[in-house]
Amino acid sequence: MDKRSLSELYVAELKDIYNAEQQLMKALPKLAKAAASDELRQAFEDHLKETKGQVVRLEAVCQMMDQSPKGKKCLGMEGLVKEAAEVIDEFEYPARDAGLISAAQRVEHYEMAAYGSVIAYAELLGQSEAIPLLQASLAEEKQADRKLTELSNGINAEANVERANDGQSQQVTRKLGTKRAA
Ligand code: FE
Ligand code: ZN
Ligand code: FE
Repeated sequence: MDKRSLSELYVAELKDIYNAEQQLMKALPKLAKAAASDELRQAFEDHLKETKGQVVRLEAVCQMMDQSPKGKKCLGMEGLVKEAAEVIDEFEYPARDAGLISAAQRVEHYEMAAYGSVIAYAELLGQSEAIPLLQASLAEEKQADRKLTELSNGINAEANVERANDGQSQQVTRKLGTKRAA
């Protein structure tokens, strides 16, 4: 093992992402369960399916380097998953749904950074077979993030209207004209 080499770093980061995706596979069903919005729950369930595919891609990419994807714990994802659990513990509907989106978007951005880095390394290392696989996963993370932004428009406003309904901000309620879902 040459600790000065980019290929060593590449493998270490692939292992890190592999573990991150596995942590997320365990967390996403909990996020789905905690979501009140059907669309948000569906988004988490859809991304769980994609995440399982991402794990398989990482196994293939590590295989190309003759390395096992196992053996590392992603501390970043561990922290992000804990923060999502905190949202579930500390908030209730409708603020909870907004907080779940925020927590999930932090996860997606973390993953986007991770895939962006290993794609750059793969290009330099001539790992041409790995690149399309890693890019496919990166595209899924970006799409998941965009979907969450789209859902946040209604869900954040809904959380705000709830507060307005407590009599603190009637003006906002009128401006938005949104109704709480049944
Ligand atoms: Fe992922
Ligand atoms: Zn990590
Ligand atoms: Fe993701």
